[in-house]
Order: sequence, then structure tokens, then C-alpha cells
Amino acid sequence: MSAEPLLEETLIKRSQQKRRTSPLNYKERLFVLTKSSLSYYDGRAEKKFRRGSIQLSCIRCVEVVKDVGGINPCQYKYPFQVVHESNTLYVFTPSQDSRSVWVQRIKEEIRDNREILTKFHPQFWCEGAWLCCRQEEKQAPGCEEYNLFGDASRKPLPPIPAEEDKDGRRWPILPPEVDDEDGDATDDVVVALYDFPGSESHDLQLVQGGEYIIVERCDVNWYKARNQHGEEGYIPSNYVTEKKSGNLAQFAWYSKHVNRNKAEELLRKEDKEGAFIVRESSTQGTYTVSLYTKSVGGKGGAAIKHYRIRETRGSPKQFYLAGKHVFDSIAELITYHQHNAAGLVARLRYPVGKQDKSAPSTAGFSYEKWEINPSDLTFMKELGSGQVGVVRLGMWRAQHKVAIKAIKHGAMYEEDFIEEAKVMMKLSHPKLVQLYGVCSQQQPIYIITEFMEHGCLLDFLRRRRGSISPASLLSICLDVCEGMRHLESNSFIHRDLVSSHTVSYNFCKSLTVFSKSPSFVVQGARNCLVNDSLVVKVSDFGMARYVLDDQYTSSSGSKFPVKWSPPEVLNFCRHSSKSDVWSYGVLMWEAFTEGRMPFEQNNNREVVTLVTTGHRLSRPKLAPAAVYDIMQLCWQERPEDRPSFSQLCLMICDALESDAALAN
Ligand code: ADP
Repeated sequence: MSAEPLLEETLIKRSQQKRRTSPLNYKERLFVLTKSSLSYYDGRAEKKFRRGSIQLSCIRCVEVVKDVGGINPCQYKYPFQVVHESNTLYVFTPSQDSRSVWVQRIKEEIRDNREILTKFHPQFWCEGAWLCCRQEEKQAPGCEEYNLFGDASRKPLPPIPAEEDKDGRRWPILPPEVDDEDGDATDDVVVALYDFPGSESHDLQLVQGGEYIIVERCDVNWYKARNQHGEEGYIPSNYVTEKKSGNLAQFAWYSKHVNRNKAEELLRKEDKEGAFIVRESSTQGTYTVSLYTKSVGGKGGAAIKHYRIRETRGSPKQFYLAGKHVFDSIAELITYHQHNAAGLVARLRYPVGKQDKSAPSTAGFSYEKWEINPSDLTFMKELGSGQVGVVRLGMWRAQHKVAIKAIKHGAMYEEDFIEEAKVMMKLSHPKLVQLYGVCSQQQPIYIITEFMEHGCLLDFLRRRRGSISPASLLSICLDVCEGMRHLESNSFIHRDLVSSHTVSYNFCKSLTVFSKSPSFVVQGARNCLVNDSLVVKVSDFGMARYVLDDQYTSSSGSKFPVKWSPPEVLNFCRHSSKSDVWSYGVLMWEAFTEGRMPFEQNNNREVVTLVTTGHRLSRPKLAPAAVYDIMQLCWQERPEDRPSFSQLCLMICDALESDAALAN
């Protein structure tokens, strides 16, 4: 396609992810429209430097924005919007004429696009709401019909109730924040599961086992709490649990997220007579005690028994494990069996702690703290390097191991990423690599994340070839699935679950003549990392959007993860949680081949043809039929026929509980 500019003009761009209408968020950029893309450049330097580019094929709407009340502190007063995939770019032109030229010209260029919006938002997204319809979901469907070829001057919208702030600006009145607490005062007492030293003066220190009162639930990750001395401060919500009967999380013997296979692994590792774990069964709301004994019936040889905690019929419910001993609560039942075997192979002597004994990551080092002071960091060994820069092991304030990624100049849309990082930090889950913050006031910028001792999953699988059982491989898949389920439930698309970042020159050359040597190709399962407790976590979610490299972001680029992409991404760059599900199926395949390259005999172009004509990866030798069935569900042609991550988690848990499903 021709790169000949169709239009070129200096316009002003509003930062795509910004929440606040600060003047700093409006940048002058040289906009260039070609037959294939709309790009913008930083013109300050002698040589212009590209800051971003949108492929025209991904644009779903271009239209004038009605700037009711002139809310934008921008010297150009004529805004238009470009909706591409799920983002909206706002551009301001100096005159009405120039705006109309840009809007009409882009409309002409996208007239044959597959995906054009039927409805759009005629006003801005601002401070967490659409000003036109006051919906508070950024992805909320548009509120006005979109007509690609219609007249941009539309009928007036109904007035929005508004109030003026002290500067005389008009703001929409948003509905009051909903308090999702049920008002039960006893819910507000919590018990600390871990020590939390606190890193800022506004934090409150937690001591494991101590009780605290929750004063305010600031967001899902941080609460304001009070201790017994009346001191108040912020605490991470995942370090405490409600103190109320029936809440098993407060007990050292309970590990909610441990499946049968992982429980066996942990018990064997401890190798102690009477070691036990109480965990949630695959059927939600029921519990299992997994118990280890070193000698069964006086004979040698260790064994692990799994006892389902049963409930009596009728009300109030009572609980029992073996025979005649019935209890009012699970806690009482466990206490009893800690002293009496009473039908079990051993008494419950030794509670095996949480799966990951060390305290979990917090969503940032403190509440609303995303900017990290680089002088708090010390650098240690290099861990690896990827598409956007080198990753080093480091320490934060000499107490916390972290991974520090230094971003190569020009490798990322930095300003947009930094804004997005604030959202990404709030995505906190035991199966997601935690983003702690950024050092954005310097070059290169640093991204600080949780440190994962065993590095990327692909290397881990290859290093341990021949030593990981199918059940453990499936357990690895479950970890990833749980991380992905959390992203899915937050409407967050990964886009690059299994990436092909480091592709050597030889591989790029070999798109037509494929070189089989695996040393040329280092890819796959790279965006999953393994920690010292062998928990696998998903990393780099959403980052693909900020990478400044056509070879990587464009589906025809040599670094694009073609082998992990479903037909709708290859053909129409249509990303969704269901395209992540497809990539996840390929990741399962990589796990069960212990890190082999998918479609290793084929180059990217051949893979596109194969996949679009219905071919799929074949069953890995280590994958039982039930597991291959799950992979195949992920590779359904139509995205809507693929299961969600939450359904996949259930299927995998079921398979892990069943010996038959794991038999090859
Ligand atoms: P890519 O661009 O290939 O995804 P990254 O830049 O994210 O790669 O990481 C490069 C390498 O650095 C990884 O393959 C891994 O070995 C190592 N690495 C990255 N992040 C971490 C981390 N949080 N903990 C430990 N090692 C990491």
C-alpha cells in the first residue's frame, strides 16, 4: 500500500487514557494520513519521531465530537474522534474547515472496513463517564446512531444536568458512588493473614493474627483500617480476611485455591506424618481435607487421602468427615480431628500453610502510589531482555525483590502506557504478575513488577522436560487460566498471552524458507512467569497495545504472534477475551509438549492458510483425551463458540480431580 500522505497537518491530540482534563494531556503532533494508517509524530526534534499510529483497517468510527461547554483546556477548539478497536483518540483541529476535511477524508478511506460502529458517543469520555449519556463504562455501547456517510451536524442532544465548579466549568452530575457493602457491622472486623510493614507514613502496620477495624474500603485493593490503639492508615485488602464464623480463610490450615494435584505436591514436599490441607473442592462451596501419612496400616510407603467434608441434611447444617462425629462448624470439626484420628488414616497433626507462604504482592507499594522513586531502587543481575528492553533483578528500598524493565527509547508509546499503568496496577490477583509502579520522570522509563524467580514458563518447561507429570502440566494451565479469568472478569484483553517477542533475524528471513533449528526461535509461553513456589502467573497483559513496532503489532508483521492468533485476529484484527481463549489453547498445547513450537514445520503464512481452512494443532503425546478436548474447544472457529475463561477453569478443575480424565 502507498505511504504517500493524503493529509498532513499539525493538530492537537488528547492523551488516550487520561482521566483528568489537565492541559498537560494535550500534545501538539504532526498528523499524517496515508492509505493504510493515521500516524502522529513528535515534531520537536530535527527529525520527526513517530509517537503512534492507527491502522485504518482497525478504525470503527470517525466523527466530530460535540464539545458542550468547551470542557477541554486546549487551544484548538474543533475536536473529532477516531474509534479504533476499543480505544478512542481525540484530535483537535484549529478550524471547522480543517476538521471537516480530516473527518470526511478518513471516512472515505474506511468505508469498506468490516467493523463500523452502529452507535457511537457524540460527546467526550471525561472523568470516568460519557458526557452524552452518562454511562460510566468506557466500553458502554454508543448512544447515538452512527452514519458513516451522514452529515456531521446532528440534531441537538437533550441537555445534561450539570453544575459549575469553582472555575465556572460545567461538569455532569454523576450518580453517587454505590457502596457495595451490605452494612453488616460485624463484617468490618478483619484478621491480618500476613505482616505488613507499611511503606509510607499514611500506611498502617499489620501484624499477622492481629484484629483491625475497616474504616473505609478505598478500592478493591486498599482499605483504610484502625488498630486497637486507634491508629489509622492504609492496608492492602488481600492481607486481611473478615473475622466471622464460617470464614475459613482466617485459619492457617485453609488454602482456598489449592487443587488436588497441588495439595499432593505440597504435602509430599513437607513429608510430615499427619500433614494436612483443607481446600475448596472442585464443586464450589464444598471442602476437602487432604491428609498425608508416611505409613499406611503400619506398612511402609507414604499415602495421601482426600476426604470430602460432608454436610448433614436439614437445618442448621452440621459437618462430618468420618462416621459418627458431627460438628456445628468446619473449624470445630478440624479441631476435633487434630486430636483424634477417629476413622482417618492419621490425626490432623501438621497444617501445611498456604500454597505460597510468603505474603502476596500488593497492588502497588501503597495506596494510589504508582510513581516509584528511582533512588529507592538498587540494581542486581540481568534477567533477560525482550521486545521493549532489558529486565533486571533489583531491590526496592533494600527490602523487596522486584523486576525492573528499562524501556528502550522509542520502543513504546510511553505517555499512553504510563496512564494505562495506573489501571493495570489495580489488576491484582495471585495469578497475575503484579505491576508495582513506574519511574516515569526519567529516560529510560522503568516498569517495576513482581520478581518471578524461575523466569519464563517456556524456559521452565524446556529445562524440566520429561520430569513434569500431566497433572502438574494441567495445574500450570489452571494457574494461567485463573489469571486470565481475572482479566476477563475485568473486561481486560491480554492480546499477547503467548508472545513471539524475541524472533531472530534468521527467523524473520525464514518466513518463506523455514529454518528448523530451534535456536533461531525463542518464543512462546514467554508472557507467563514462574515463581519460587512454582506458581505460574500471567504478565505483560495489555502491553502489546503500547509497543511501537509494526512488525510486532501488525498481523502481517514478522513478529506478530500468528501461531497464537485466531482467524478473526488474523483477518480483521478483532481482539476480544475470546481471542485470548484461542491463544490460551495454544499455551496449553505448549505446556503439554513441554515447550515445543506450535506448527513447527510451518511458517507464519502457511499457518494463516492452515488455520483459516480449519486445521488445528494435533494432540500432544502427554495430553490425555479430556485435556485435548479442552484445547479444541479453545480453537472453535467462531469466537462465541469458545468457552470463557471461567468455564475453562471449571473444566480444568474437574479434570484435575478425576484420575480417569488424567489417564492417557
Ligand atoms: P518479552 O518482551 O519477550 O515478553 P520481557 O521483556 O517481558 O520479554 O522479559 C524478558 C525476559 O526477562 C523474560 O523472558 C524473563 O526471562 C525475564 N523476566 C521478565 N520479567 C520478569 C520478572 N518479573 N521476573 C523474572 N524474570 C523476568
